[in-house]
Order: sequence, then structure tokens, then C-alpha cells
Amino acid sequence: MNYQVTASRKRPKNFQSMIGQEFVSAAISHSLQHESLANAYLFTGPRGVGKTSSARILATCLNCLSNETLSIHPCGTCTNCTEIATGSNVDVIEIDGASNTSVNDIRGIKDEILFPPSHSRFKIYIIDEVHMLSTGAFNALLKTIEEPPKYVKFIFATTENHKIPATIKSRCQQFNFKLITIDLIKKQLEEALQELHVNFDDDALFWLAKEAKGSMRDAYTLLDQAIAISQGSITLKELKDKMGFAGIDELNLILENTLEGNLEKAIEILHSLFIKGISAEQILHDLTDYFHALLLIKHGIQNESLLGFPMQNFSLLVQDKLSLYHIKILLQSLFQIYKGSKFSINIQFEVELFLSELSSIHLKVDPTELIQELQNVKNELIKSPEPRIMTQPEEYNKNSNINTNISTTEITENSFDLSRLIQTYLEDQYAILVNMEQIQLIDQDIVLYAKSAQEYKQLQSILNEIQNYIHKSTNDSLWNFRISYDKLELINKIFHQ
Ligand SMILES: [Zn+2]
Repeated sequence: MNYQVTASRKRPKNFQSMIGQEFVSAAISHSLQHESLANAYLFTGPRGVGKTSSARILATCLNCLSNETLSIHPCGTCTNCTEIATGSNVDVIEIDGASNTSVNDIRGIKDEILFPPSHSRFKIYIIDEVHMLSTGAFNALLKTIEEPPKYVKFIFATTENHKIPATIKSRCQQFNFKLITIDLIKKQLEEALQELHVNFDDDALFWLAKEAKGSMRDAYTLLDQAIAISQGSITLKELKDKMGFAGIDELNLILENTLEGNLEKAIEILHSLFIKGISAEQILHDLTDYFHALLLIKHGIQNESLLGFPMQNFSLLVQDKLSLYHIKILLQSLFQIYKGSKFSINIQFEVELFLSELSSIHLKVDPTELIQELQNVKNELIKSPEPRIMTQPEEYNKNSNINTNISTTEITENSFDLSRLIQTYLEDQYAILVNMEQIQLIDQDIVLYAKSAQEYKQLQSILNEIQNYIHKSTNDSLWNFRISYDKLELINKIFHQ
């Protein structure tokens, strides 16, 4: 059987069968019906979304021999229609802008257009990749498209709209082509396979549609590959094995193991993918898709075609262990690897390094969360460990089994303000000035936080004296006095209370 590649077989023959470009189809159809034609059309948009097909369809609409007037329904069977579809019509001249970039090439067109079409209404120039023309060529073109003979039409197509000079754009009727959605691509692929009587599983088709990244042509090319490698039935497993990509299950396993501290196992699975022939670049690509999907999930997006896989396929463990902040860091890190991949010694090593970083991602704390935590700590420090104001001496004595004979000589105002007691003692006896915040009472611990290393040393040298003084003053030998130079200790204490 003479096998025709799907992209050619399924190339649309009229605007009604164009996929995903309804706006363009409607606008052009409208102008054809009202015979309000522009001298030049500019089709812009990503590759493989139907720009060249649309240019040919427009040409058949203009030149179909079966219709008396312009029609949005070209017959598809007359000589003009069939020749235009294959790019062999003498009156429809297709030029590749990439290889005809010079002024002379354009001058050639200027001379040619003086001759009317041989057996059609219009002489049509389709210039693909028009952004590749030189500045001189664009200038030469300018005059021509402004006032061409009535029978001449230009259709330009480009993937790089921004490279087209404004002077050219302003003389064209511009149409922007969009990327085609996964759902729409999938539907087309399904149709193509049914026509060929090839079986398929839904996951496999979804993956092909996703990999095409909005390009119908790429989707058909992938489909042809899939048909070639499968024996009458396309399954995701077969695609994974033969087209070399990591499935989401493998990625889940690698990431779960990494996050659970089993990096060895994760690297082992990673290497099994390399052995299967999946390149490190492909895994990098798959990981980026994965983390991109996680980012969307964290923002509450569940749409399968945006995520690239059904939401339930993404590991819950991975989702639980990573915060939005972590996912952002990881995604940025993958972008960095990708950017530097041209100069990388070995991308495989970089992927492994990425996993190693992932294994300790929990140590990275979100600065905004940290600020919040610090604010909490601050609040705690202000309110919670306020020097424990002891009860009135009488009450204190009642509850205490220890000798009630308290020496209260240094205690003022009938209250046990230990902090103040210590503060006064240090100032009077040793001329050391400490503020109230430095002294914290936690259970039976009195912790004095030194402001500096020097103060710490100084306090340490009189530790026993202070301890004795406290015991004597409170008549309570359970107080444990410590000096610390570490604020973290205090923070930890508060958090673990
Ligand atoms: Zn026709």
C-alpha cells in the first residue's frame, strides 16, 4: 500500500476543516464572501498550526475553476485546486523566504507580476518564513505590495512576527494563528487512527498530543512514528519503551525515593532509564514538565490538558513533601540546567545533582515563612517568658516545703522579681549592666543571655557567685542558673514547650 504521511493526508482542504483557528477561518471567509480582498495577507503564529495550509486554502478559494465567483467552498477537484494543494500550480508561486532572501530575488517577483496569471483569476505569491528576507528585500517588496496589479495577491507566513518591519505589517491584513489545544489534537489523532484501523489506548494518544506542544503537524509526525513502531495497536508502554521517554510512574518513583532519603534507590531507577536509551536531556525535559505541573497543582489547577497528565497520576507524597516555595526553587533550578546544558560537561551528572539537592530541599525555608516565624518568636519573647512573677512571699512559703525563713533583704515591693534581683545584683556588685530581656525564666531554669562573647566570659567567671546569691535570696536551691550566648537555644525552647 502506498502510505501517505498523516500530515499530508490530513492537510485541510478548506477553511471549514481547519483545526483550532476558528477566528482566522471566519475572518477570511467573511472577506471572501464580501469580496473585500487585501493586497497582502500576513499569517503569523507558531510552527505547524496551519499557516501554510491556510495560505493554500486561500489560494484555492481565489482561483478555484469550478466557482464563478470567489467562494469559501473550493471544489477540491479542478486542476487549480489539485495543483495548488500539491504546490505545483503555475499561478500560485510558493517561495521559501529562508532561501530567497536577497533584493534580487524580490526584484524577480517585481518583473514577473507584470505578466497576468496564465489561467486563473489571480497570480498569488506565498512567501513562507518571510521574516528571513533582508532589509533590502523588504524595502523592494514594500512598493510592490502597496500597488500591485489587480490580479496579484501576496500571502506571507512567519513564525517570528516581531522580525517583520512595521512598514510591511501596516500594508498587510494580519491573522494570528494559535497553538492548538491538547484536546483538539487528541481528537484529530483519534480520527486519523480510526481511518487507518489502528487500535490505541487513550493514555498513549494523550501523550502524543501533549508532546506535539500545540503543533498539529508535529502531532501527525509523532503519530506516524508511533504507528511505525507499534504492531497494529498503540500503547503507552510501547511508546515509553520504543520512543524513549520517562513515564510519570518512573518519575514519581524517583522523586518519592529522593524525598524519603533513599537517594541511592532513586539514582538506581534513573540509571535504569538511561540504560533503556532515554537520554539525560529527555529526563531533564520530563522533570521540568513534572514540576511545572506541580506548580499548577499548588495553585489549584486541575485541568488535565494544562497539567499534561491527569492530576491523580502525580504522586501525593511528592505533593505533600514539597511546598510551593520548594517547587519554585526546583523549577528554577531545572531551567538553569536547561539553559546551561549547551556548555554542560555531562547533563546526566546535572540531573543527579538536581536529585541530590532535592533530597535536602526541606532545609530550605521560605523567607516569608521565616519572617512570620520570627515575628511569632518575637511575640513569644515579649509576652511568654516574662520574668516569672512569684506569688506573694506568704503564698510562696505555703507552697514551698523548703525552709520558710527567706532572706528578703534584697527584695523590694514584697514580690519576687528574680530578674530584677539578678539585674540589681550584677550592677551593684560587678558593674555589669544587663537588661530585663536578657534574663529568661523557663520552669526552674534561669537563663541569662549574654550580649557579647566578652560579656559571656565575664558572667561565666562569676557563675557560682550568682547561683549562690539566687539560692540564698530565694531560699530555693532548685533554681538552676545558666549563662548562654545562643539565642537559638531560647527560640528552640519556646517552640518545644
Ligand atoms: Zn476547484
